[in-house]
Amino acid sequence: NDATLHSEVLVLGGGPGGYTAAFRAADLGKQVTLIERYPVLGGVCLNVGCIPSKALLHMAQLIHEAEDVQSHGLKFGKPEIDIDKIRAWKASVSKSLNDGLAGLVKQRKINLVQGTGRFTSKNSVEVETPEGVKTITFDQAIIAAGSHPTRIPSFPNDDERLWDSTDALELKQVPKKLLIVGGGIIGLEMATVYHAFGSEISVVELMDQIIPGCDKDLVRPLQLKIKKQYKNLWLETRVTAIEPQADGLKVSFEGKGAPESDIFDAVLVAIGRRPNGKLIGAEAAGITVNEQGFIPVDKQQRTNVANIFAIGDIVGNPMLAHKAAHEGKVAAEVAAGHKAGFDALTIPSVAYTDPEIAWMGLSETQAKQQSIEYDKAVFPWAASGRSLSLGRKEGVTKILCDKQTGRILGAGMVGPNAGELIAEAVLALEMGADADDIALTIHPHPTLSETFGFAAEMINGTITDLY
Ligand code: FAD
Repeated sequence: NDATLHSEVLVLGGGPGGYTAAFRAADLGKQVTLIERYPVLGGVCLNVGCIPSKALLHMAQLIHEAEDVQSHGLKFGKPEIDIDKIRAWKASVSKSLNDGLAGLVKQRKINLVQGTGRFTSKNSVEVETPEGVKTITFDQAIIAAGSHPTRIPSFPNDDERLWDSTDALELKQVPKKLLIVGGGIIGLEMATVYHAFGSEISVVELMDQIIPGCDKDLVRPLQLKIKKQYKNLWLETRVTAIEPQADGLKVSFEGKGAPESDIFDAVLVAIGRRPNGKLIGAEAAGITVNEQGFIPVDKQQRTNVANIFAIGDIVGNPMLAHKAAHEGKVAAEVAAGHKAGFDALTIPSVAYTDPEIAWMGLSETQAKQQSIEYDKAVFPWAASGRSLSLGRKEGVTKILCDKQTGRILGAGMVGPNAGELIAEAVLALEMGADADDIALTIHPHPTLSETFGFAAEMINGTITDLY
């Protein structure tokens, strides 16, 4: 049993929320201890989330582009997929970021403790480390313990053919028939990858559209493409049972269009994530954790216990890395005695599918539900020279502006690189830009970014007809 360590700021969890908070607190002069149960930093995002999925999606994009350009006169041979090499390359991407984080921790003289932490009071945690249990006391703590994939207890979760997103990212094999349960962002990104690698994909979704929460018109181009590419897209359909059999997993369905049952070589369950709030001994510190496992916080990221903050997936939706990092900075700044608060006007969402879908601010569905009066423009990428020269015409850029003030309320894009393009819309919203501001901003030609300018011109009346 080591002697008790003391820290001014203790951060529990080394994901994008936790390491950002730890770095910021150290930069502001605090003596910081960062506790992470795994030997590497980066959390879900860097190890089994955002980064490995994007590395694999890049491969998928290259495969599809090579196929698509055949009709334009450029022929490649059939791609040879060496999944061992791809897996190693994907791991190397994460590793270089892991190493970078380790260097930044050292540089800042952050005390990094590998182990699983649990609160024992509002000023102490107990950490189970490979060398034994350590007690660490602290003045202030920032909880950044993240989330885990939702499981359905009645499914055969120990069967190797039943995957969560972490299993899917391991890329152990490419199943012949893969069922994706859940047509949300994570499920569809994995569908994109395995489809490109040769799996026959079926997607089953409970709601009446894929990517529930995103406007239907933005989802439509992806939905149409998926219907052509994938074996099945079953909407308004529920999986009622999964039974292991010698020849695969037998899945039973209930709903529109799906068969009563079918057999798959693997099934990826991607139906959401659960916060880790109930797994950190929060009760010993008196921290409120709600029924679902989220920890409620105020705008300063403070929990109900004054010296304890919480950030990232564990405090609520949307469960996104850029939200976690932003909250991490706020918590660290408040802990260091600065005036700070989480007051972002929007948190953008991106599906890195093909085409990509990105949206921010008020959605059209929300505007209608809340009876907010808006002007809308939808610019079709079929009229964008850059899009056509990429061989793509299915995209659209949509802008909603306030009917009275003209200020941007929300925007969405679907098409290649939509995830990069949405950043301009986020800045416009944060700066209180109106349609004139955007329309009068010179966008470089020919770029996809012009579509955002053109949509604004449609709203302010500069473009009346598409030429
Ligand atoms: P996490 O990243 O979950 O980190 C929490 C850390 O705390 C982990 O390292 C964990 O080991 C550690 N921990 C937990 N409990 C303890 C304990 N008791 N003691 C010590 N350590 C502990 N988001 C995006 O913004 N863009 C994307 O493209 C994107 N793609 C994704 C793809 C997939 C497949 C998945 C699963 C997620 C994706 N996400 C994406 C979501 C993103 O990964 C999360 O929102 C983000 O990682 C949350 O950060 P966090 O710091 O709150 O928690």
